Amino acid sequence: MVPAVLGASVLWSWNIPRAVKYREINKITGLKGTAVNVQTMVYGNMGETSGTGVCFTRNPANGTAELFGEFLINAQGEDVVAGIRTPMPIKLMADVMPPIYAELVANTTMLEKHMKDMQDVEFTVQEGRLFMLQCRNGKRTGTAALRIALELEAEGLITKDEAVLMVEPRHLDQLLHPQFQDEKKYAKDVITRGLAASPGAAVGRLVFSADEAEEWKARGERVILCRHETSPEDVGGMHVAEGILTCRGGMTSHAAVVARGWGKPCVCGCEQLHIDLKSKTLTFELHGKEVQLHEGDWVSLNGTTGEVINGAQPLKKPEVTGGDLGKFMAWVDKARRLRVLTNVDTPEDAAIARTNGAQGIGLCRTEHMFFSTHERIAAMRRMIAEEELESSHKMEALETLKAFQRDDFEGIFKAMDGLPVTIRLLDPPLHEFLPQEGPAMEALCKQLAAELNASVERVEARLNGLREVNPMMGLRGCRLGIVHPEITDMQAVAIFEAATKVMAAGGKVHPHIMVPLVATIDEMDHQLNVIHAAAKRVADASGKKVPYKVGTMIEVPRAALQAGHLAERAEFFSFGTNDLTQMTFGISRDDAQAKFLTTYTRNGILQTDPFDTLDIVGVGEMVKIAVERGRATKPNLELGICGEHGGDPTSIAFFNKVGLDYVSCSPLRVPIARLAAAQAAIKAGKAK
Ligand code: PEP
Ligand code: MG
Repeated sequence: MVPAVLGASVLWSWNIPRAVKYREINKITGLKGTAVNVQTMVYGNMGETSGTGVCFTRNPANGTAELFGEFLINAQGEDVVAGIRTPMPIKLMADVMPPIYAELVANTTMLEKHMKDMQDVEFTVQEGRLFMLQCRNGKRTGTAALRIALELEAEGLITKDEAVLMVEPRHLDQLLHPQFQDEKKYAKDVITRGLAASPGAAVGRLVFSADEAEEWKARGERVILCRHETSPEDVGGMHVAEGILTCRGGMTSHAAVVARGWGKPCVCGCEQLHIDLKSKTLTFELHGKEVQLHEGDWVSLNGTTGEVINGAQPLKKPEVTGGDLGKFMAWVDKARRLRVLTNVDTPEDAAIARTNGAQGIGLCRTEHMFFSTHERIAAMRRMIAEEELESSHKMEALETLKAFQRDDFEGIFKAMDGLPVTIRLLDPPLHEFLPQEGPAMEALCKQLAAELNASVERVEARLNGLREVNPMMGLRGCRLGIVHPEITDMQAVAIFEAATKVMAAGGKVHPHIMVPLVATIDEMDHQLNVIHAAAKRVADASGKKVPYKVGTMIEVPRAALQAGHLAERAEFFSFGTNDLTQMTFGISRDDAQAKFLTTYTRNGILQTDPFDTLDIVGVGEMVKIAVERGRATKPNLELGICGEHGGDPTSIAFFNKVGLDYVSCSPLRVPIARLAAAQAAIKAGKAK
């Protein structure tokens, strides 16, 4: 009866809020319940010759090869777990129970050798006799994981491939970002938990607009930028912020993508937080009480767990011993088949990515380059606002933009000397380059009217005419380059001129020009004509031919289905799985998180956010179809992925399986993608 009751209570515990939360945090999904083992009990509370303890065969915090753990005399396991009494360090057992300690050491050593991994062991001593209760592979920090893997290999217990499998991608993540000194210490100060959109720890003072972020930063302050959601207009403020916090948006929202690109901690989709922009306050409920934070108050973000924490929590630098990590990553690189490229838009980020092992650029989002300074965005707005193609204003704006792009591309080609650089033509709807409707927009129209020698009404009509009901399905991607071929031409010329200059200085350039959101072969043909014509003009003028490729993104289901035809023209495909997920699922990548995706994942309607981990059976099927049809036309067609899934280990395993050539992800995720690619290749080899 008693075991049955205990067993039942364990089964019930599966659904208590703590357990549900634990599974949510650890992304444990798709399980129906837990299993229970009923076995005879031994007792550690039968006097001074009895006791209980928990130990690890190596130190789980730093990986040192030592028996590490705790022991309590005359106690049951529950006393250790509940913290009612303070246990003693396991090594003291050698003094109080020498023969038992010797037996424990012998047993744990044997267990580790047998299991070929660090073990987490529970034991009880009943009246002088040792009982081993259970063992399992021990949880460990990133630092410990790396050291343990290297040392187990050196001890001959595991192979290099097994060592590669032993370090989890999240361990590397931990090793590469600043961390909080002690996550337990801030538990009482946690305000809320949102999506862990970009890992790492950030501490700063709260600001509510991008401009304020820049002002505060200019005064030498560290800031956390808190927004309902971010847009390209906010990039200046986002860039100077230590971390980014949003109330809306999912894992591929603007804030999340940009923050990950910069390796900046970001927590997004915190629906419980209420921003009042007028009073510059953030209101939320904490322990049943309404609390308000004001501009300038200190907050901390844990982008690895999604926690938003009150106050400035102390940080520590990542403890990476370069040599060990370098040695481990060499094993990783030997094991993998997939190449790992990176998504960057600046020479500085390209250099960081290369240091992290990127083998080229898989996605340069050129639109980001237009936001980086006031001058650039101003030229972009002049170009958009001027209708007349032949007008001197339009020409001037295009020339200004071309010069900026050419400089950026030159820097990027230099940073990626000898490696492929995939540059995507302008993609977003043009209204994204404009402020929201309201006073800022009115002021812009007045300013543009003066600059372009036009009436305010005409500029207003032109700019307001750009707004669409459903812009993500509207005038964007290659449609933009078809309606405005002058934009494609300007970008292509900038690419070829930059490449020519770098080649003249002895550099090796491999520009891959990528056409976004293609659905039909005629769209591809149109853009190919503009690009080839630009290449010829530049070559004629310089006397130098730039070697280049033109490919397409596969972002809409029609492109996946028509991949056989598109491969007749495209020299490479890159799967834009953010849009492909949005379009295949019919789920908005901007709104779905706040509106229903959280409910879906909480209720098991979806196991994971499809913008985070690829929906293998649905969107993955589209990828598979495109791979098969594309390669049927062109067996050597180069295939890659540059959506956010390119940095997600589960998705990477799938991309390895379907035979892509590379994945591309943000610079700081490059080492993680390298590891995930290696693990996928090793597992696939084992499965064979
Ligand atoms: C994509 O859609 O996956 C992609 C990489 O493009 P973007 O995120 O810029 O739309
Ligand atoms: Mg896209």
